[in-house]
Amino acid sequence: MQTEVIYNPATLEKIVDVSYGGTKDTEDAIQAAHQAFPQWSSMTARERSGLLYKANQLMLEQAEELAITLTSEQGKPLQESRGEIKSAASFLLWYAEEANRLYGETIPSSMPSKRLMVIPQAIGVVGAITPWNFPASMITRKLAPALAAGCTVILKPAPETPLTAIKIVKILEEAGLPRGVVNLVTGDAKAIGSSLLNSEIVRLITFTGSTEVGKYLIKESSHTVKKLSLELGGHAPILVFDDAQIDQAVDLTLASKFRNAGQTCICANRVYVQRSIFQQFTDKLIAKVKEMKLGDGLEDGTDIGPLINLSAKEKVQRHLDDAVAKGAKVIKIDNKETSGLKGHFYSPTILTNVTDDMRVMYEETFGPIIPIQPFDEEDEAITKANDTNYGLAAYMFTKNLDRSVRVMEKLQYGIVGINDVFPALAEAPFGGIKQSGIGKEGGHHGINEFVEMKYVSMGIE
Ligand code: ADP
Repeated sequence: MQTEVIYNPATLEKIVDVSYGGTKDTEDAIQAAHQAFPQWSSMTARERSGLLYKANQLMLEQAEELAITLTSEQGKPLQESRGEIKSAASFLLWYAEEANRLYGETIPSSMPSKRLMVIPQAIGVVGAITPWNFPASMITRKLAPALAAGCTVILKPAPETPLTAIKIVKILEEAGLPRGVVNLVTGDAKAIGSSLLNSEIVRLITFTGSTEVGKYLIKESSHTVKKLSLELGGHAPILVFDDAQIDQAVDLTLASKFRNAGQTCICANRVYVQRSIFQQFTDKLIAKVKEMKLGDGLEDGTDIGPLINLSAKEKVQRHLDDAVAKGAKVIKIDNKETSGLKGHFYSPTILTNVTDDMRVMYEETFGPIIPIQPFDEEDEAITKANDTNYGLAAYMFTKNLDRSVRVMEKLQYGIVGINDVFPALAEAPFGGIKQSGIGKEGGHHGINEFVEMKYVSMGIE
């Protein structure tokens, strides 16, 4: 059997070998999911819901072990991993509840001799492809609604973080999920992807990852006309207005930017600060960043872990070099904890004198760099915020109610945070517009991705 080594990105030490699957494994998994579908989809919603409740419970019971696994393979501070496991479990709970609320409708007919109904039915076999930045919650955010709706699944986790995925699938098994309902395939992304895309059986691909791979999936799924649910890249702006509570804005900007070392699709990418408070905001930000500790996520007190791999680190450096070449002023926080660290660490960096032609201002950096630019007028800030092909999340800090409503309505984003940078909750619809994606995850909306609405027209004598 072919295998692949999984490394700890903080220490660069080998953790374990994981099997490296390909076309044949994926085809077997599709067949297993296909065979399990009739029974799983015809169970009552209450029965499926019961299994999801049980899985939620088991995940919470095993939270610490899961969090340690997550940090070991992914790098984020243990505190963040604990938060992620709680969040991952909350999707199981939410969709255990939603399974029982998947209502259809009846439509008043314009013809006296007809009765019209719409019934939701599971779409069928689903391919779920997930990223490494949230190795647990991106899985349950897809699997929980899929299972609640009655779908069976082939899960392909990111090659960097299969260990959390394996543990989650074991929890589902322990909860009593019938064989074949969830099938995990690790290994060759391209081969697994092609098998899923070319299969007539797979009816939906649910994906979280880069816009580049998202576009590839859109193109390749056309042969079999699959439904797609896509959570792609983002380029989140933060607008800090002069009526903001500055300390709150500073703290939450840091929390958004340095969460997962800047490797989340809703992390702040660019910060626009109204000119009258620009200096004050920047000074406070620098002072706070100096206090942050870079280190192994498993060690107490670590605020920022390593980047996932060398190529991630190289990309961040390319963005920095590009900004410097175009005139940016670099405030690299000389965090003494960095010395002696073996992994893919990158010191938190603040950039001023930034111009819109710098890559940090329009491409996802996925690392701990904060470019800050001043603005004068509200409309100018909105125009800059919207000047991107992405449309996932945007944030603003203001204590002016009128302004918050005005600006919120004009921001072309699927998610807007007002004095808040942590919008992702199981009960709320998460998703982007423009090139950030198609569809919603979470909320009662999220389950709709996994059903087809069957329209029934009955002739009545
Ligand atoms: P990132 O740059 O954050 O790693 P990717 O979009 O490359 O984002 O990866 C997200 C997920 O998509 C991972 O599970 C990855 O293995 C998978 N992936 C990458 N390329 C393909 C492909 N051609 N077909 C199917 N899945 C893919």
